[in-house]
Amino acid sequence: MSKLPSLSGQPTAQETQYRTGDQALVREINLSLIMNRLREHAPISRAALAEITGLNKSTVSSLINELIDHQFVREVGLSSAGIGRPSMQLQLNPQAGFIVSGEIGIGFVSVVCANFAAEVIWRYKAKVQPESSQQETIDQALALLRQAIAVGREKCEGCDRLLGVALAVPGLVDQSDGMLLFAPNLSWENVPLKAILKEAFPEVPVFVENEANMAALGEYFFGAAQGYDEVLYISAGVGLGGALVRGGQVVRGKTGFASEFGHMTMYPDGERCNCGNVGCWETCVSQSVVFRQVRRAIDEGKPSVLCGMVDNDLDRLTVSLIVDAAQLGDQVALQALEEVGHHLGVGIASLVNALNPDLVLFGGILSVAGNFLLPIVELELQQRALRWNANAAKVALARHGFYASVVGGVAMVYQTILSQPSNAASVI
Ligand SMILES: [Zn+2]
Repeated sequence: MSKLPSLSGQPTAQETQYRTGDQALVREINLSLIMNRLREHAPISRAALAEITGLNKSTVSSLINELIDHQFVREVGLSSAGIGRPSMQLQLNPQAGFIVSGEIGIGFVSVVCANFAAEVIWRYKAKVQPESSQQETIDQALALLRQAIAVGREKCEGCDRLLGVALAVPGLVDQSDGMLLFAPNLSWENVPLKAILKEAFPEVPVFVENEANMAALGEYFFGAAQGYDEVLYISAGVGLGGALVRGGQVVRGKTGFASEFGHMTMYPDGERCNCGNVGCWETCVSQSVVFRQVRRAIDEGKPSVLCGMVDNDLDRLTVSLIVDAAQLGDQVALQALEEVGHHLGVGIASLVNALNPDLVLFGGILSVAGNFLLPIVELELQQRALRWNANAAKVALARHGFYASVVGGVAMVYQTILSQPSNAASVI
């Protein structure tokens, strides 16, 4: 095929194709710009959108018409504020459709069905039996996702369109093909989860992502990290996970495995970690470490109200019970939390020096003990981090608690639609 310009001065078929492609791309970028400004400023008028985007009014009107056609945007009534004629106000349409998001965790699967404003329509958590096989656990998760879709179709008022399905997992996910490469606390390797989701839900976009990355994104769009630029998210429970969100984007590294902060070597002569290394940060910060501290103190004969709380069966310890005991001033509970809080703070101080975040968010099961842990983290931060870095970083609790990762899955579908609205509309 010739690549020379045509002699007539008219564009060749190839050039026309490129130009049309460019125009479609520019339009998609502008649609995304409008969606994002609506997210930040709604309710807002077409004229005001033109002003803050720098696009001309007729372009904005055309883009808005397209977004209304896709049902992603809706008119919400005339504004009578200010001088001049009242103007029609716009916002993202919460009834654009519904999103279903699940999590395969350690010993549980959970799911949420939410509308386009991340308002939860239904959510559910189920235990996974310890003897369940990998296939049984995946089947259990798929069944819950299907149930959530059925609920969404029935209960999502005026929005029975499924926008996407997301799944969070506690491990490394190769973003090129959605393969779960390694989940140390599940002992899973090389599970083609995205392919499995695609087969189960062929009609919609599907997403598979590390649970901490998902949770951090959920906090950025719908939680405690709204408005922050550089968010360090730390999640402690069975393991210790982390994520970094920069300017609304999860920082994934070259192959998608960044932010495995729990596996930083902190204690070169420490304990063996489930990842195979020795002395990972995670070996000193997890719920099982808290339980172990409590057991050790009780074995040493220290008195604790926890013995009565669990009828002397320490296998029944939970983080919530330990928090209850700590609130009663129980020294065993308080010292266990203090010990873990110290290790948590030491690691966070190093990460704050390395990354200079404006927000450190703490989530996961251990965040139930946040009132006891965060003051210790703050102290370590002030003592150990460079003061400019420490002063720049606010430390706070994540908002979505146990459901952080599934809310994050909702955010991932939402973000994808915001970034490519026309493309998303064509596939759902
Ligand atoms: Zn490790």
